[in-house]
Amino acid sequence: MIYQSTRNDGLTASSAQAILDGMARDGGLYSPASLDMDFDWQAVLPLSTQDMATRILAALLPSFTEAEMAALVGQAYAGKFETDELTPTVSVGDDTILELFRGPTSAFKDVALSMLPVLMTAAREKCGVTDQILILTATSGDTGKAAMEGFRDVPGTRIMVFYPHGGVSPVQQAQMATQEGDNVCVCAVRGNFDDAQTGVKRIFAQVEREGLLSGKGVRLSSANSINIGRLAPQVVYYFKAYADLVRRGRIAVGDPVDFVVPTGNFGDILAGYFAKMLGLPVGKLICASNKNNILTDFLTTGVYDRNRPFYKTVSPSMDILVSSNLERLLFLLTKDAKQVAGLMASLSETGAYTVPASFKAQLDELFFAGCCDDTGTKAAIGQVWRDHGYLMDTHTAVAYDVAQQYKAACPDHAPVVILSTASPYKFPAAVLEALGEDPGADEFKAMARVEEITSVPMPKNLRTLKERPVRHRDVIGPDDMLQYVLDKAVQEKW
Ligand SMILES: *Cc1c(COP(=O)(O)O)cnc(C)c1O
Repeated sequence: MIYQSTRNDGLTASSAQAILDGMARDGGLYSPASLDMDFDWQAVLPLSTQDMATRILAALLPSFTEAEMAALVGQAYAGKFETDELTPTVSVGDDTILELFRGPTSAFKDVALSMLPVLMTAAREKCGVTDQILILTATSGDTGKAAMEGFRDVPGTRIMVFYPHGGVSPVQQAQMATQEGDNVCVCAVRGNFDDAQTGVKRIFAQVEREGLLSGKGVRLSSANSINIGRLAPQVVYYFKAYADLVRRGRIAVGDPVDFVVPTGNFGDILAGYFAKMLGLPVGKLICASNKNNILTDFLTTGVYDRNRPFYKTVSPSMDILVSSNLERLLFLLTKDAKQVAGLMASLSETGAYTVPASFKAQLDELFFAGCCDDTGTKAAIGQVWRDHGYLMDTHTAVAYDVAQQYKAACPDHAPVVILSTASPYKFPAAVLEALGEDPGADEFKAMARVEEITSVPMPKNLRTLKERPVRHRDVIGPDDMLQYVLDKAVQEKW
């Protein structure tokens, strides 16, 4: 399988090169040129999750043989998740919840960010690169922690994470500030998430343009979901959930299943489209948004328009107005890089674009979209706890609410799987409020109180958080980020 830029048919790369670079040089994303491939999807259903991952990842990333991939998968996942299944499913009423948060930082990003570091180092060897890889990441909370945990002490790599000073939750802040590992560095930036993200993008551009790291034995890369090495591992759990429903007798092999996905950057739901293209009988993909419902509008009207207010919600990992991975969907559906380049130019110039009617018809066939505000989110958490004794986090609750909207709108729906993307203990204040209590000002107290009321066990990594020593205290201004990176890049020991 050849990868190419979503904006230029002439810019191609092997899967290893695509992982190493993170992003195409023309600003496009690396995508498979086509997903029409011969994949024996039924053969993976009886396998363990890790063996499933080996088969699927070897098919999507053919720079690696199946034997090589099996070793990488073992290295990435063995002993790191709460269960060898990695991503268990649970029945809640008529629905099935796919729990993606049983990894080392209790967020679904662990699934991909456990795999990306081993793919990155293997890609570095494949491509004959001897430079150290320096990962730069801006985070609004979840990605930074999961990325550091994934890359910690991985030979040949270092990782630097920038987050908005005072702009992440106390739990997220503590998770990052206490991060261990000799190759990790965390720094708060005075400003909001956009300042941190713009700063990182500027560093990439300036380092490349002016050759600021050339000859220094270091090259930059990204751990954000623009990297195909982060997207591919997410395809696996769609197969895993489907196999669980077959094992439980809920469906026969070949029956469709609908998936509801709490969506931000469109990576998770795009992985569902990849699974469908590999042959898995995915029925509808249901895109669930919070009050930042730009994707609901796009999927129902065909107009993408970011000229709108940005809301801070209780599901912050979905507070996003530009969903990067949508670009890959546009490319895979139109197979027309020129057209994608045109739409993206329109997005950066006017903040908006409109897709042609034929394309809109394809979207209607594949997707259903809905949204849910904070009031609905908390109501869903409370109701599911009371009716089913199952405790959801705020992002999962958005998906749960939209799943009920979908079932009401489409009575002939297939069995529904709801993707659950975070532990409720990562957002304890909102969860406590949803359970009818005053959350107070101390998030750690709220965490303990949620456990007291519900007896749902708190994940180990969060339980010990408050006692762990703080290892990272740096705070800088946005204008100091470049110098900070250049200094650290050549420091022998962090
Ligand atoms: C990142 C994230 C999402 C959104 O996933 P995308 O792939 O960006 O669409 C949803 N929920 C949680 C908890 C997340 O961390």
